[in-house]
Amino acid sequence: MITVKSLKRWRTLRAGGRFGGRSLGFVPTMGALHDGHLSLIARARRENDIVAASVFVNPAQFNDKKDLARYPRTLAADTKMLAAAGADFLLAPNAGDMYPDGYRYRVDEKEESRLLCGAYRPGHFEGVLTVVLKLLNLVKPDRAYFGEKDYQQYRLIKGMAEALFLDVEIVPCPIVREPDGLAMSSRNLLLNEEERAIAPALNMVLGSKASIPNMKKALAKLGFGPEYIEERWGRRLAAAKLGKVRLIDNVEA
Ligand code: AMP
Repeated sequence: MITVKSLKRWRTLRAGGRFGGRSLGFVPTMGALHDGHLSLIARARRENDIVAASVFVNPAQFNDKKDLARYPRTLAADTKMLAAAGADFLLAPNAGDMYPDGYRYRVDEKEESRLLCGAYRPGHFEGVLTVVLKLLNLVKPDRAYFGEKDYQQYRLIKGMAEALFLDVEIVPCPIVREPDGLAMSSRNLLLNEEERAIAPALNMVLGSKASIPNMKKALAKLGFGPEYIEERWGRRLAAAKLGKVRLIDNVEA
């Protein structure tokens, strides 16, 4: 696997002949990789000649500075995991290179980005859509892979690709869970022992037959700070805080 940190080098490499006629699958991530991410790499590996991943903790999508500072960064371990999973390229740019305009130019969406997570994290999806558009323009993949764990994000990215006529197939991938049902997430690393023991209840409650108000009550009783539980797009989606850590999940409605 070739790791590329400089965007200048990446663009030279991408413009060269080595990709000619071969399909390219792309998996953008913020690192602190786990089996959820690796399932996207495995799918990309099966469906493409070349696989590129990126690790970039995108400051523009963090509405909370403390959340950005706390976000786990494990690039050395991520590099090993990606190489072992069969990625050919790792793009790991820095924020200065990614935002030469200082984030003056942004992708804005005025409906679905304001719902659910968007209502609690103002500007979050603007940051996500902007960085994904930049990455898609840099990598120019045939297919890009996104987890259904971030279901609202997947929908918005698919919508952006259609609205802006991007020449890429946006591929949704199922949620990978821990054996106890907790959706894998880089943020799970931030849970203390007690919080980690309670965390699987989010998935259990979400998948139960209780009414939504009763689900919220049950979560609050367990020590969660529920933000929303809502049914949309054939899914039941939720976000809840456990201590300082914000967890999201969704199940089929
Ligand atoms: P992140 O590093 O959290 O930005 O995630 C990078 C990609 O991996 C996104 O498309 C996520 O939806 C996906 N992803 C994260 N966790 C999981 C999971 N547990 N199962 C499937 N995909 C996931």
